[in-house]
Amino acid sequence: MKFSTVGPEGARNLLREKQRKQRMAAKELRVRFPHIPSLRLDFVFTDAESQSPAPQSVVLHPPARAYFVYPCPYASCTGELDLAANVDDIAEHGKAHTSGHAKCTGERQGRTGKTSCDLHIEYSIAVGE
Ligand SMILES: [Zn+2]
Repeated sequence: MKFSTVGPEGARNLLREKQRKQRMAAKELRVRFPHIPSLRLDFVFTDAESQSPAPQSVVLHPPARAYFVYPCPYASCTGELDLAANVDDIAEHGKAHTSGHAKCTGERQGRTGKTSCDLHIEYSIAVGE
């Protein structure tokens, strides 16, 4: 009898699939936040132990899904950053901008097996015109 296991790639694919489904289920930005014309999210990553991943920017327009969970930039990492509460905060208080930082809580496949990721993520969220 053969046991099938979900390897790091399988786990990553499951996570991607979950995120895809949740994104599809999310309301559109213009429905969820009618007062927000567009949103720009910027991410800067700092890895203390190796070369940091390149910064990322995401712009959401009114027809985009209001889904704010972003996967860790490391391909083998299971971590995700959920900024839904931050976007809610902007919308509730009519803010134009917010920023903060977080640490990835996922696990990465390294040379010596699974290690905690600990990637430092600085993010900023800005409401567009
Ligand atoms: Zn990570």
